[in-house]
Amino acid sequence: MLTLAPYAALNDTCLGRQHEEESPHNRSEYQRDRDRIIHSAAFRRLEYKTQVFVNHEGDLYRTRLTHSIEVAQVARSIARALQLNEDLTEAIALAHDLGHTPFGHAGQDALNKCMHDYGGFEHNLQSLRVVDKLEERYASFSGLNLTHESREGILKHCSNTNAKLLGDIGKRFIKNTMPGLEAQLTNLADAIAYNSHDVDDGLRSGLITIKQLRDVELFNTQYEEVIGLYPEISERLIIHEIVRRLIDCQVSDLIETSQNKLAEKPPESIAAVRKLKKPLILFSSKMREQNLELKQFLRKNLYFHYRVLRMSTKAEKVIQDMFGAFFEHPQLLPNEISDKAVQCMHDGDAIGCARIAADYIAGMTDRYAIDEHRRLFNPSEST
Ligand code: MG
Repeated sequence: MLTLAPYAALNDTCLGRQHEEESPHNRSEYQRDRDRIIHSAAFRRLEYKTQVFVNHEGDLYRTRLTHSIEVAQVARSIARALQLNEDLTEAIALAHDLGHTPFGHAGQDALNKCMHDYGGFEHNLQSLRVVDKLEERYASFSGLNLTHESREGILKHCSNTNAKLLGDIGKRFIKNTMPGLEAQLTNLADAIAYNSHDVDDGLRSGLITIKQLRDVELFNTQYEEVIGLYPEISERLIIHEIVRRLIDCQVSDLIETSQNKLAEKPPESIAAVRKLKKPLILFSSKMREQNLELKQFLRKNLYFHYRVLRMSTKAEKVIQDMFGAFFEHPQLLPNEISDKAVQCMHDGDAIGCARIAADYIAGMTDRYAIDEHRRLFNPSEST
């Protein structure tokens, strides 16, 4: 078995779970976290949630599930090379998007607007809420009762206001300190995965072209290498060859830069890492710049493409309509949750009622949201 570095998340240095439990017999604490995530309902729903394209637009595009698996693959490769805890990075990667609403970023922005006066909606915080509270699988506690380390990795960003409400897990945002290295690297593995697969999905959907992307340095370097090696290959293969090189060059850069950084002054333990104000897992400055250029390209040409925007606008409307209906008339919510929401309204707790509606909407898949919208607003549809 590979020896972990002293600054990795070790079973012995695990800060434990919110509800005390016996240690697992045949697995590490982080393997148990990963297994709990895989068996959760929220994880299964990732299959029908999207990032850029809406689920019914095609079977070939990434879903949140395939995205999360790709992040886990990238994160594990980096973790192994840096002698960090692969099981923990896998757990964080598989859970990092559990709190995403239907319809990707458009859905999250719409729900955040609806929740403006009731505490807002942050998808990252929602992922933590899913594993801490919303999953119902254990008789003795709500949520999945994950380790501190997995929860720390899931909560990538957090506003100061919310951090104050979160206890231990929120402290680092107030003190401005770093999480463990596994959390740092999974965050960057997420960016490597989505930048690369959005190039792939964007090209295959025809919304962006190779010609346009050649203005982006990171892409063009890989393009020239591929064309130099295989001048005759088909466009489909060019895309695959470029995308895998895009992932590889970013992963290699991240490993090398981080290895050098760690070697300068190796922290003694994960506790020492958590005291630092700056990350130790990072890209070279050149790669950071190139990454930014690619991100900006995707934003302008793919995420703001008129066809994506049309879909996002429809998605926003679906979310707003549903939220409005559930908030005004909590008795329209399914039985399991409506009693509680009606009680909140009765007690004058509008925030509580809004949160129940937001949790319900955030848990929906794309197609469930479309169907539920139809059931709510189309009189000829059965309810
Ligand atoms: Mg992600």
